[in-house]
Amino acid sequence: MTVSSLPEMADAITDPRVSTVDRAADSDEIRALFDLVRELNRDLLVPRVDQAEATGSFPRDILHTLGAAGLMSLAYPVEIGGGGQPASVSLQVLEELATSWLSIAVSVSVHSLACFPLVHAGSLQQRQRWLDQMLSGERLGAYCLSEPDSGSDAAALTTRATPTNGGYRISGRKAWITHGGEAEFYHVMTRTGGDGPAGISCFLIDAETPGLSAAPRERKMGAWASPTAAIILDNVTVTSDRLIGDEGQGFAIAMAGLDAGRLGIAACAVGLAQAALQAAVAYATQRQQFSQPIADFQGVSFLLADMATAVEAARSLYLAAADRADRGLPYSAQAAMAKLLATDTAMKVATDAIQILGGYGYTRDFPVERFFREAKMLQIVEGTNQIQRMVIGRHLTGVRR
Ligand SMILES: Cc1cc2nc3c(=O)[nH]c(=O)nc-3n(C[C@H](O)[C@H](O)[C@H](O)COP(=O)(O)OP(=O)(O)OC[C@H]3O[C@@H](n4cnc5c(N)ncnc54)[C@H](O)[C@@H]3O)c2cc1C
Repeated sequence: MTVSSLPEMADAITDPRVSTVDRAADSDEIRALFDLVRELNRDLLVPRVDQAEATGSFPRDILHTLGAAGLMSLAYPVEIGGGGQPASVSLQVLEELATSWLSIAVSVSVHSLACFPLVHAGSLQQRQRWLDQMLSGERLGAYCLSEPDSGSDAAALTTRATPTNGGYRISGRKAWITHGGEAEFYHVMTRTGGDGPAGISCFLIDAETPGLSAAPRERKMGAWASPTAAIILDNVTVTSDRLIGDEGQGFAIAMAGLDAGRLGIAACAVGLAQAALQAAVAYATQRQQFSQPIADFQGVSFLLADMATAVEAARSLYLAAADRADRGLPYSAQAAMAKLLATDTAMKVATDAIQILGGYGYTRDFPVERFFREAKMLQIVEGTNQIQRMVIGRHLTGVRR
């Protein structure tokens, strides 16, 4: 291949950026949902992804469109304004979105996580007042647990809410917040009591509340179209109806949300790995060396076979965890296993995809180098993969430390 044929080659492997997975759908409604997502991917996401990721522009308008299509809250019950889909379906939608554009899928997953506290711990009055605009995606959400000095040890957070007459005054700093500076509402985990998890409470704070501001965006390795910024709370005054759940319940609410959130990240990781696999297959069947497609060399086709098997295994694991969630069974350990396997798989498959593309894979003319940078993020967010192993280990042994 000459250097001048590079853009054509890049175009050829750009085409399959809509998932080619043959999905089983139990009903016409679910089949239509999967078709709709692929159509949106083809017409809306794929044409915009390269430029937005290169320039770091946040595609808020696309999230509005997905919200209008009902895709921002698929897993929540219809009665409260959600899509009423089982986790097994809503997660496959996330996977589809991630195959075309990871940052968008992460936004949908994080928005769903940001709705979790109000859905599961809010009073009827609180839900009636705020939930509609959140679940419709009209107001975008952020989930604020991490702080500069408490990441994996989230229960050590120091943001403090002090009681006032009729409410609370909140000061502190939240770190690494996805949608920081772009979200319209923030669920903020805050200390109202003593040390440890029992002293933490959850507050719902509007973006426009005086004293709440965002630091400049983090300069991340990848997922540039997904804004990440610290949130500064400087004497933010809220009324007591902004407390979600009781005082002291915040950490339990945050952890329950993370079980669902980790399944979302697992589905995103499988979508990303699927995109890397499709790019590698497309390239290997076109690229000729020694007068034949490189896919005809067993060394390459075995690598592709291992990649495909790993992606399928990760998909099966998140769907098995989703099945437990849909049946109302405990699934914390299974969610941690799915997040661990799927994100490690995304990292490995993206790395191998670069190997299959050779020198071209190491350039920005092909998407696989971006997949590689994005996969790394997934091994860190919503609990690093070491923390997932800790969750799984505790589940096995019952030992807390
Ligand atoms: C792009 C991005 C988006 C994010 N979005 C959000 C968000 O929306 N909301 C939010 O609240 N947070 C968010 N985070 C924060 C994320 O959850 C934390 O980065 C993560 O939990 C790790 O915390 P840390 O970065 O402070 O690392 P640390 O906790 O300091 O960990 C450093 C290293 O030590 C290891 N380690 C720590 N403790 C242990 C242990 N007990 N055993 C073994 N190894 C250990 C970790 O695995 C890691 O390798 C985001 C992060 C990123 C990068």
